[in-house]
Amino acid sequence: MVQETIRVYARLKPLGRRQQAGIYSVDDEKSLPSLEIIVPHDLADGFINNKRESYKFKFHKIFDQEAKQDVVFDNIAKPVAECVLAGYNGTIFAYGQTGSGKTFTITGGAEHYNDRGIIPRTLSFIFDQLQKDSSKVYTTHVSYLEIYNECGYDLLDPRHDASRLEDLPKVTIIEDSDQNIHLKNLSLHQATSEEEALNLLFLGDTNRMIAETPMNQASTRSHCIFTIHISSKEPGSATLRRSKLHLVDLAGSERIAKTGLGGHLLTEAKYINLSLHYLEQVIIALAEKNRSHIPYRNSMMTSVLRDSLGGNCMTTMIATLSIDKRNIDESISTCRFAQRVALIKNEAVLNEEIDPRLMIVQLKKEIQELKDELALVTGKQRTSELSQEELLQLDESIELFLKDNDPDSTLDVGADMRKIKYCFIRLKQLLNHSKASDKKQLLQHISEEKDANEAEKEELKKMKELLQQRNNEINILINMIKKEKKKARDALFQLNTASAGSTVLEQSLSINLNESRSPFSCSSLKEAKDFGSSFHRSSFLCRKPGEKMSLGCQEAFEVFKQDHADSITIEDHKQLLKQRFAEAKCLGEKLNEEKDRINHLKGAITQRHIQRAALAVSSPSEELNKLDPVEEKLRRQIEEGKQSYKTMFNHLKGLKIEIEHLQLLMEKAKMKLQKDFEVWWSEEATNLQQEKPEMVNSSNTATTYPQFIKSSQHLSTNSFSETSRVSPKEDTVEKRNSIAPSNPTSEIRTPSTSSVPLTGDSQADADILAFIKARQNILQKKGLGNK
Ligand code: ADP
Ligand code: MG
Repeated sequence: MVQETIRVYARLKPLGRRQQAGIYSVDDEKSLPSLEIIVPHDLADGFINNKRESYKFKFHKIFDQEAKQDVVFDNIAKPVAECVLAGYNGTIFAYGQTGSGKTFTITGGAEHYNDRGIIPRTLSFIFDQLQKDSSKVYTTHVSYLEIYNECGYDLLDPRHDASRLEDLPKVTIIEDSDQNIHLKNLSLHQATSEEEALNLLFLGDTNRMIAETPMNQASTRSHCIFTIHISSKEPGSATLRRSKLHLVDLAGSERIAKTGLGGHLLTEAKYINLSLHYLEQVIIALAEKNRSHIPYRNSMMTSVLRDSLGGNCMTTMIATLSIDKRNIDESISTCRFAQRVALIKNEAVLNEEIDPRLMIVQLKKEIQELKDELALVTGKQRTSELSQEELLQLDESIELFLKDNDPDSTLDVGADMRKIKYCFIRLKQLLNHSKASDKKQLLQHISEEKDANEAEKEELKKMKELLQQRNNEINILINMIKKEKKKARDALFQLNTASAGSTVLEQSLSINLNESRSPFSCSSLKEAKDFGSSFHRSSFLCRKPGEKMSLGCQEAFEVFKQDHADSITIEDHKQLLKQRFAEAKCLGEKLNEEKDRINHLKGAITQRHIQRAALAVSSPSEELNKLDPVEEKLRRQIEEGKQSYKTMFNHLKGLKIEIEHLQLLMEKAKMKLQKDFEVWWSEEATNLQQEKPEMVNSSNTATTYPQFIKSSQHLSTNSFSETSRVSPKEDTVEKRNSIAPSNPTSEIRTPSTSSVPLTGDSQADADILAFIKARQNILQKKGLGNK
């Protein structure tokens, strides 16, 4: 890193013959030479403060009028060119009023070879150096930019020949994400030799000259930047050094007021002054300590020189002075500017970057070298991948290491990074795997517990439902008992009324139910059972596949069946069927008998034939040809038997059809009965649920039961009118037809209701039902019960 202030030089243009020299003195004695300008008194009424008579300015070096171009180059440009060759950026700019010798200094005079300026001399020097240095590979490019009225033009654009400056594509500034400046439309030309580079300079200068017309003296009012781009790299190295040297010929720094211009030229002058003003601002900003913002963007020139004015750059300024009497003020102004520039401290650093392509090549080479070295040390050639055998061995080692309970055990795989890495990966995998399986187990456990809970809940739900069902059954049965009791009471009441005048009947029909219970109970129970058994129980009880009628439900069905209108039809059918079966059986027996008789008669005829044949052998006569009356009789009897058999058979056939038909009818009636029962049963259950939800929902049936007993006892004291049928469906009709209770002569004792258990599955239940049935039978027999 090179750290120094910007070097500022002064160059005084030789005075022409007619020019009157201003008073100045150069002091070369000190380390920093100084230029003293003395303002003559006759100029005191000018714009310069006439109170001061002399101005002293310090420069790194002052080149007086007679200084030659080679001296200027050696002192100013050569050190910068050397830095650029070393990889730093550099800028040399000439600042001064028009005609002060900027172009002469930067480009040179056109007449003599010795008048060559900094650019050709620098190019010559650089190529000379490049030729001398064979340790690096250099590439050189040049560009030539002209900034006129804040617009950039490429002086090396081949279209310059045919076009005016304004018609050429403008060079624009593009800033990338790293805030690097790129110039669009500015061509970069490679120059492999000094000659090529000089040709390009000549081309640019010619273009600059062509564009210049008497009306448009661009050269004085435009800035020109000739840039030499050098990239260098040592052979085999991935490091690339890039540097550039800007050689800047600025526009004239003279003030507008002094020039006395107007119109188009004034505009130009404004631009020139403005861009120089911005250049000054940038320079002031760069000179200030801790200044974070540098206003580079204000003008094109400062933007282009952004990376070459301050910061990472070797910057040199040449203040060109035309020190004749008339230009004293401008000269002082230039010197002041130079003093400000001199305050800037630059820290130039090497512009090195890595060439990725070369880096890869270099790294590959390094890897190979290291591999070779490793193979030499280990005695083994190593591939990037471990072999299958090595992997297996490592797996075994890891397993042993994990199984080893010794806390001091180690996993030694040697100094092989591949193996060490594999072990770490494998251990990580194993750890993750065990974590995952733990998680899985936990989840499984949770889900099992959940399942168990759900099963328990399901079981509880089922139990509750069953309990509710049982409650319903009990309630329905109790209701039925109540109705039966009511019916019995009504019947008794009617019986008493009907037989009021007949003592015989009264005696025979005034039944004390208490007494009549025992004799009837057994027989009626038997009847009920018989009646019930005549049904195909299975078809009724197996309501749904897998669902059986509960005992309570069965008992209720038995009672329901007895009261059902269709039960009589079924009974009738049953009787008829029995009769027809008996008839068929009898007919069948007769048929068999008839068949046997016919067979017997056939046998007798055969016997008769044998006898007659024997007789013919012993006493041959014409008897044989005669008709045998016995045989004739037998044959007639057979014919009659056959006729009878046929008649009976046809009769039996008819009976079979009738029986089948009857069976079908019966089955149908049973189905209807079952269906009716189911409808009624569910209705009853629903009603009960609506009426007494608290009982239905109660889980303890023992507590609900007494209420039923109470209500049933209460009802048992009432008398009701007769109803033709006690069908649960007609319960409402029955209520409508009910009459006011009359004087009950006797009370039906509730058959041990207090002893009826809750489940409905008991002898007491059966007794109740038997009693009801018995009562019904009595009433039927007496023509008072259901039809
Ligand atoms: P500027 O570019 O600053 O406007 P020029 O470089 O064009 O000024 O110089 C104006 C004239 O002065 C030119 O003819 C040039 O040859 C001449 N001149 C300038 N400086 C010197 C010098 N040091 N020695 C000889 N002639 C010079
Ligand atoms: Mg010039």
